[in-house]
Amino acid sequence: NEESSGSGEGKLTIGTEATFAPFELMEGDKIVGFDADLLDAIMKEAGLDYEYKNTGWDPMLVGVEDETLQAGMAGITITDERKESYDFSAPYFEATQVIAVPEGSDIQSAEDLSGLKVGVQNGTTGDEAAQKLVGKNSSDLSKYDSSAATMMALQNGDVEAVVTDIAVAQHYVKNNPDANLTLIEDEDNFEKEYYGVLLPKDSEHKEKIDEAIQTIMENGTYEEIYQEWFEG
Ligand code: GLN
Repeated sequence: NEESSGSGEGKLTIGTEATFAPFELMEGDKIVGFDADLLDAIMKEAGLDYEYKNTGWDPMLVGVEDETLQAGMAGITITDERKESYDFSAPYFEATQVIAVPEGSDIQSAEDLSGLKVGVQNGTTGDEAAQKLVGKNSSDLSKYDSSAATMMALQNGDVEAVVTDIAVAQHYVKNNPDANLTLIEDEDNFEKEYYGVLLPKDSEHKEKIDEAIQTIMENGTYEEIYQEWFEG
């Protein structure tokens, strides 16, 4: 149509859940963070016009599946289960789950979570990992709609532990010293995860996005963005 841009492609709407610092967080009305900068670099490299929108987690998953959104960028782990309904870009970040507990807690490994009140973000890999440890329909499992909400629940004493992505938990502990939280890693129970850009099945943009990710990883742009958000 006459209104589409020169490349023949319209503006992509890309969803996120912007309380997942340092990957995506709100600064005023702007979404900033590692993912925001990386997404911008990817889309520029790919020559794609886009709008990054704080849709929330569940609406993002629904929107990409029904293609009202053309992508999701939210520290989203590439999983076999999600691959049944979505495509993913090439992986761009390694992660794993971690347990956040109040300092002085007796919990030492994932196995100690059984019987405790555990908080997770609904529908995340942390949710899945916690279900395996405390039981799928356990009343001990409290589900929240953002990672930030799980941390608030932990601080309020509504839950005794939170299972969430390691870089996000580390960022939270570092920036909230008064929360007095400790992190427990457990490689035996928590697998390695990789983040990818979430795409609709058979997305026409996957190839361009993958090429852009490769270029950005090779030309130093990725490293620059990484330094800014993780070594600063
Ligand atoms: N990496 C986790 C997942 O994909 C959590 C992502 C998030 O909460 N933004 O499920």
